[in-house]
Amino acid sequence: MNHKIAKFGGTSLANFEAMSRCADIVLSSQSTRIVVVSASSGVTNLLVSLSTGSLSATQRNDAIAKISGIQSAIATHLELSSQQLSLIDDLLEKVGDIATSIARLNVGEEQVRTQLTDQLLACGEQLSSTLFTQVLIERGVNAHWLDVRDVMRTSSDFGKATVCIDTVAQLASERMTPLLEKQVIVTQGFIGCDTQGNTTTLGRGGSDYSAALLGEATHCSQIDIWTDVTGIFTTDPRITAQAYALEEISFNEAAEMATFGAKVLHPSTLIPAMRCNIPVFVGSSRAPESGGTIVRNETESKPVYRAIALRREQTLLTVTSMDMLHAPGFLARVFTILAKYNLSVDLVTTSEVSVAITLDNTGSNSGGNSQISQVMLDELEEVCQVTIEKDLALVALIGNAIDTSYGVGTRLFATLHDVNVRMICQGASSHNLCFLVEERQATDVISRLHHAMFEQNARGVA
Ligand code: ADP
Ligand code: ASP
Ligand code: MG
Repeated sequence: MNHKIAKFGGTSLANFEAMSRCADIVLSSQSTRIVVVSASSGVTNLLVSLSTGSLSATQRNDAIAKISGIQSAIATHLELSSQQLSLIDDLLEKVGDIATSIARLNVGEEQVRTQLTDQLLACGEQLSSTLFTQVLIERGVNAHWLDVRDVMRTSSDFGKATVCIDTVAQLASERMTPLLEKQVIVTQGFIGCDTQGNTTTLGRGGSDYSAALLGEATHCSQIDIWTDVTGIFTTDPRITAQAYALEEISFNEAAEMATFGAKVLHPSTLIPAMRCNIPVFVGSSRAPESGGTIVRNETESKPVYRAIALRREQTLLTVTSMDMLHAPGFLARVFTILAKYNLSVDLVTTSEVSVAITLDNTGSNSGGNSQISQVMLDELEEVCQVTIEKDLALVALIGNAIDTSYGVGTRLFATLHDVNVRMICQGASSHNLCFLVEERQATDVISRLHHAMFEQNARGVA
């Protein structure tokens, strides 16, 4: 069947009015047969605050009351069945119970905490999906609520689980595909389940990725990501009002954008879409008539500059050793230590006796910086000197043939003549040029680059 998937993000499901607009979108397209939802706006952040275990009992009750308030403001507009009502009550009770259990954990029980955290965070999507199913039913849609944990099989890496693609494909063909002919399946983004039946999550913002995975598993014709902006912009519209929505962007460019901080898409979203060549549409659930951006394999235009992404809170790790001089194997030793502590390297530059690297900080539940632990530093310091710099931001210029187009460097450095470019990576990909600047200068740097490269007559030309 030639079906589409619609994914609605948190702000799109923030209240009853917002959910009603999403229902309009589902109703407007007969081919939309799978709906993937995030938690209502604010709920996951409240659940994350409960998962820290550091709130007092009063603060915990406040957070739970806020979650319950967001959901009951929606529920009052609906005629929920007694089964749905008791599911919602059970979920809210579960939130309280898990939050209390986490608060009582002792130091050293990290493993239990991460496992409980995923159970806690999953309640957000379970609540919103229950409510949105009823919104659709009351609008005449033959909607079917599905617990995605029956399909989304993952590893047991709580907080950032890896998806078992083949198992998901098999489970989706058994448990989803037969329903698509007659029903609209409403299910949860972000969450999954390991082989022992434990709830897992895919990392913050992971609902986009869930939608793409389910799109791949059910062979859909398009994945529609409905959010709070009218598409993928030349840069985050919160940084500069001059940013504008792109009509089209290639998979490769959009994947670079997502990797380098454009929050509009979770970094892994395009992997399943690229594997199966499924176009992804990004649009605003508030203004669906405004159109949006289509992400696909081939684009009509291939501008040198397509967009600028920003990733804040970067840490630069510089390792130095005289052993590096003409000695093979030094880099391998450094990278082996980083891999041992599960740190994924992002940007790298090398000189004769030093290597500077930034670490990937995407996907963790807490957001923020990668965990550079003291034990890891101790181990690194056995082979080299280590310096750490914080308060940096990574700026990524995204486009086409950036590595071979004349004039890119001239434009970049002329625009940033008074900015300290702390590190620069260019040449590994034809789609990006990345550099680090001081965090406090980041928004100014983006605004200036945007002005020079995307405004007036520039519009993406080198
Ligand atoms: P949702 O809750 O729908 O998943 P997100 O908050 O995760 O929405 O993503 C949408 C936000 O992404 C926008 O409000 C915008 O501030 C941010 N964003 C960052 N970079 C871009 C970009 N290049 N284009 C559009 N939005 C962007
Ligand atoms: N609700 C989750 C989060 O806020 C997942 C998502 O919105 O994509 O991170
Ligand atoms: Mg998101």
